[in-house]
Amino acid sequence: MQVKCVICDVVEEIEDYSLQAKRLRNRKIHMYLCQNCNDRIKENTLKRHATGKFQLYEEKKKVDELI
Ligand SMILES: [Zn+2]
Repeated sequence: MQVKCVICDVVEEIEDYSLQAKRLRNRKIHMYLCQNCNDRIKENTLKRHATGKFQLYEEKKKVDELI
């Protein structure tokens, strides 16, 4: 299936039967992030963890929703 990244609008093809496609169809996740944006968010999250300003639990929850 074709999916559009919510951040950079790039359209990517993902496997119809991949876990991600399944989750999108079941509305367990409402948006798709391309690999680039995913990596960027992961990086930012790790950086924020390093600063210690954010609670680990909340960050983890946010990331789960994005993936
Ligand atoms: Zn993207």
